[in-house]
Amino acid sequence: MLTIGVLGLQGAVREHIQSIEACGAEGKIIKRVEELETVDGLIIPGGESTTMRRLMDTYQFIDPIKAFAAQGKPIFGTCAGLIMLAAHVEDREDAHLGLLNVSVARNSFGRQVDSFEADIEVKGLDAPFTGVFIRAPHIISADKSVEVMAEYDGRIVMARENHILGCSFHPELTDDHRLTQLFVEMVKSYKTKQAV
Ligand code: GLN
Repeated sequence: MLTIGVLGLQGAVREHIQSIEACGAEGKIIKRVEELETVDGLIIPGGESTTMRRLMDTYQFIDPIKAFAAQGKPIFGTCAGLIMLAAHVEDREDAHLGLLNVSVARNSFGRQVDSFEADIEVKGLDAPFTGVFIRAPHIISADKSVEVMAEYDGRIVMARENHILGCSFHPELTDDHRLTQLFVEMVKSYKTKQAV
């Protein structure tokens, strides 16, 4: 059985757990650093990135999550979670985790329209995915090592670099579990490699 953690400091946690379980894996809310050892992959949910950073500092999550990634364990960041993963955040001197070689801008889709839904073509999916965007970031630029997986309105909204995956929108807020499934497959392949 695969166990996937959802960082439970702040944000849309429960919906991710439900989506993980709908994909046949076990979902576990992670509130303490020691709990990271008990999971094979980690989702960093949406929320508010500056608040999440403050809590990550308080509970000393930054280095342990970097170490988790260094072991090859997959991480999926959604919305604020993507901001946490990015190597560069516009208007900030320092990155948060710096695990995904992209540059992101926050609140990219206009202030009047705080949230909207849009059908997104995602690489590897045979039908569009409904993206729920809530004060969403976008990827301004991506390193050559990063695979762009989806764009909306000419902007990159999903990308993958090896075992690190990020998207601008909230896949857990729909009952379409295909993106969670894609992440579960990444975790499965990490586990299979470990077993060899
Ligand atoms: N705008 C938020 C931020 O900058 C992200 C919003 C979200 O996660 N839905 O952190």
